[in-house]
Amino acid sequence: MTNLSRPSVAIVGGGPAGLMAAEALSRGGVRVDVYDAMPSVGRKFLLAGKGGLNLTHAEPREPFLSRYGARCARIEPLLEAFGPETLRDWARGLGIDTFVGSSGRVFPVEEKAAPLLRAWLHRLREAGVRFHVRHRWLGWDKTDAEAGALRFATPQGERAVRADATVLAPGGGSWPQLGSDGAWVPLLEQRGVDVAALQPTNCGFDIGWSEHFRTRFAGHPVKSVVASFTDAAGAVERRQGEFVVTETGVEGSLIYALSARLRDEIAARGSAVLHLDLAPGRDLPRLVDELSRPRGARSLSSHLQSRIGLKGVKTGLLREVLPAEDFADPARLAAAIKALPLRLVAPRPLAEAISSAGGVAFEALDDRLMIRSLPGVFCAGEMLDWEAPTGGYLLTACFASGRAAGLGALAWLKGLEPQRG
Ligand SMILES: Cc1cc2nc3c(=O)[nH]c(=O)nc-3n(C[C@H](O)[C@H](O)[C@H](O)COP(=O)(O)OP(=O)(O)OC[C@H]3O[C@@H](n4cnc5c(N)ncnc54)[C@H](O)[C@@H]3O)c2cc1C
Repeated sequence: MTNLSRPSVAIVGGGPAGLMAAEALSRGGVRVDVYDAMPSVGRKFLLAGKGGLNLTHAEPREPFLSRYGARCARIEPLLEAFGPETLRDWARGLGIDTFVGSSGRVFPVEEKAAPLLRAWLHRLREAGVRFHVRHRWLGWDKTDAEAGALRFATPQGERAVRADATVLAPGGGSWPQLGSDGAWVPLLEQRGVDVAALQPTNCGFDIGWSEHFRTRFAGHPVKSVVASFTDAAGAVERRQGEFVVTETGVEGSLIYALSARLRDEIAARGSAVLHLDLAPGRDLPRLVDELSRPRGARSLSSHLQSRIGLKGVKTGLLREVLPAEDFADPARLAAAIKALPLRLVAPRPLAEAISSAGGVAFEALDDRLMIRSLPGVFCAGEMLDWEAPTGGYLLTACFASGRAAGLGALAWLKGLEPQRG
């Protein structure tokens, strides 16, 4: 122990996970120091605030848990201890009331992150938590199982910090300009920790539009369509929503929701085909009927618009994908409107994604989120190997795992106490 009367804990990363660990630890009476590479903490959290700060989701427990897919059993105990309702109470404790939006998403009433972050940092400082910005963690000064001192690059040169326990919460690898650049991955791999490669999730995809379509429609939203994806095992996922045409392909909430499966399909098979229903309110026979009516002197575009309300970017998508001869065949045209195939060839790079998949394997951690092979070193937040769609599930699990890692470190330090006496 560095200090027999009051143990110290170093936290690497001042995002939601690291700050929640700091809160749990400071309440437990230990000395807490938060180190962050950036000139200020919580930058990605503040950016999330630009989208209204979707803190969590109000749906029932079972569907909520299912959002964590294959890692649901690992996330469940974390959410049992600090779930969506507790998170809303916690925000209220900081003077931030929340509301449930029409989709069930939960936001602060002010729909901003800054007031919450300000109140939270104030409370943490009052509780004695010390912040050290412009401190980039570089690993440890030893290579054996005794982790040794933490090494930080600072504007004044390298600094070694010895702490009784460490919580690592450096985030994933998306939006590296906000601090979480994934540079920690080799630092843990060098210590033998199993880390699944970081990959983009909640990300856009490349399609490779024609020059004509790109210049005409990049930036256009495609509203209220149904996207469906069928994987190799025949499992179908259908979702209604909207997305945006980009310079290279597609992005936006509807695409993000399917992104994990699309990404995995591309990795396995080289591409993934997404089918779009451009007219979800109309069934196929009705479309065929409408499109079979004589169009007289009207252009095909105005026929599509007046008969079935299809226009703009939706018609553009049809022209981009469908062979010209199919436009003359009402049955084929209607079938394409109900299931237009879009071939996605690559996910956009991790740096552009909303979040990361991959990270420290849960198998490398004990129930308290301590790295089994590095006693006293805990992990939390997006650096762990889980992923979830947007909808508040990301922040909820970051908060919950940060708290669990902080409490885990407290319990571990307590376990050392008899040896100290
Ligand atoms: C545009 C955008 C919008 C989003 N909106 C939402 C939303 O509305 N709802 C939602 O649930 N989620 C949202 N997210 C995701 C959410 O913000 C993240 O999942 C969450 O911030 C991750 O928390 P974290 O504490 O694990 O890591 P981060 O928030 O990434 O924090 C990690 C911290 O560690 C620091 N750090 C990294 N490496 C080092 C190092 N080597 N040394 C020292 N410090 C280091 C970084 O500077 C950073 O401050 C959004 C993400 C983006 C990009």
